Amino acid sequence: MKGKNYYIIIFIISIIGLIIVQYQYLRVGLNLAKVQFNQKMGFAVNEIKDGLQQPNELTFLVGKAITSDDSFFKLSIDSVQDASSYFLNDFLKDKLLHQGIKTDFTYTLYTRDTINYLKSPISFDADDELLEYPIVLEGYLPELIDKKLILEMQFKNLNKYFLSQLNGLTIPSILFLIAITFIVIWVLKSFYGQKKLITITNEFINNLTHELKTPVFSIGVASKILQEKTNNENKELVNLIRNQVEKLKIQIDKVLELASIEGKKSYIKKYIIDFKPSIIDIIGEFEQIAKLEDINFISETRGDKYILNCDPYHLEKATLSLLENAKKYSKGKIKIIFLVYKSNNKLIISVKDNGIGISEENKKKIFDKFYRISSGDIHDVKGYGLGLNYVKRIIKFHKGKINVKSSIGHGSEFIISLPLEKNA
Ligand code: ADP
Repeated sequence: MKGKNYYIIIFIISIIGLIIVQYQYLRVGLNLAKVQFNQKMGFAVNEIKDGLQQPNELTFLVGKAITSDDSFFKLSIDSVQDASSYFLNDFLKDKLLHQGIKTDFTYTLYTRDTINYLKSPISFDADDELLEYPIVLEGYLPELIDKKLILEMQFKNLNKYFLSQLNGLTIPSILFLIAITFIVIWVLKSFYGQKKLITITNEFINNLTHELKTPVFSIGVASKILQEKTNNENKELVNLIRNQVEKLKIQIDKVLELASIEGKKSYIKKYIIDFKPSIIDIIGEFEQIAKLEDINFISETRGDKYILNCDPYHLEKATLSLLENAKKYSKGKIKIIFLVYKSNNKLIISVKDNGIGISEENKKKIFDKFYRISSGDIHDVKGYGLGLNYVKRIIKFHKGKINVKSSIGHGSEFIISLPLEKNA
């Protein structure tokens, strides 16, 4: 499976996980709210029982209503019942509020033999699912009628009530989840779009470079034959062709090399060797160039064996690339210091020049593929911005690091550090 699919699967699992977690939170919240409600109701029930136990204004009025005794108030029994229904309602409301319960309720006052005495002034729809709290009254009122008297309070399905209270949390979390999903999809889409574009561009460049190889090779062979046969008059021209073809060949090889290490890692093979002979070779090679081009090249190698788990071919090329750059990006009398030593179980390779230097901003970018600093005065220096990208990849493959110290006008120092083999 490709990396893309892994990311999408992880993303989908995360979103589903988040939804489940949210749902569980909601359930826990709902249950806690129910427990809290029951607790509050317990206290309210006790207060209601106490309030209705003794004869007082309210129980006296309710007593008259349930015994249908209109002798005291000089009112019709209906009015007495109405009034007590309202007063009892207010009393219950007050007790509930005292416990912080603000939801609507209804009540019925009845006996076991199903005689209904009083009902609350409001009533719920018949199809509403109700939660019932029966309270067996004690004291004055049941004694008055000499029967068991029950005050039943009813609440609308509390799930709805709690959910409506939790809506303030559920709706924003659903909205945030949707927003996250949209943004992640958008980011993934543009990321993979870009990646595809880069792959297509890379493939195109690689194919093109491959196609260039054959004609360049042919020109190389033809110019070599011409060089041998030509007379003095045209020799300079033929030499120019040969030199340029050689340069073109080197550039083509660089592009193809980079493409192949990008494509499949197996192209690089690591094994444990002493890298010191390779360093000596590099120094020997560069000393010749330095002599020809009048460069002040100073080199020093400290310590004996440099045992590394590496691909010496690529590591050599990477080191030479740094030396070439030190030469390329300089002005006036060039001085290059090449230093190799061991420190803290690391092999340090340092290439220092007195060249044009690199600005702070560009230090981060020079390792990017195709990146070249566009300062006006070095336009004559040829390159494709591939060298340092290649070096960085090779160093990374060897689990090493590369750092740059530089300031404009004062030269640069590229420092490679590679892990030395411990048990060698
Ligand atoms: P190229 O040399 O082909 O342009 P590189 O990847 O080797 O590509 O380098 C990228 C850029 O970094 C160069 O264009 C140059 O501007 C800058 N650079 C590299 N090495 C040095 C150096 N030693 N001193 C100053 N600038 C450098």
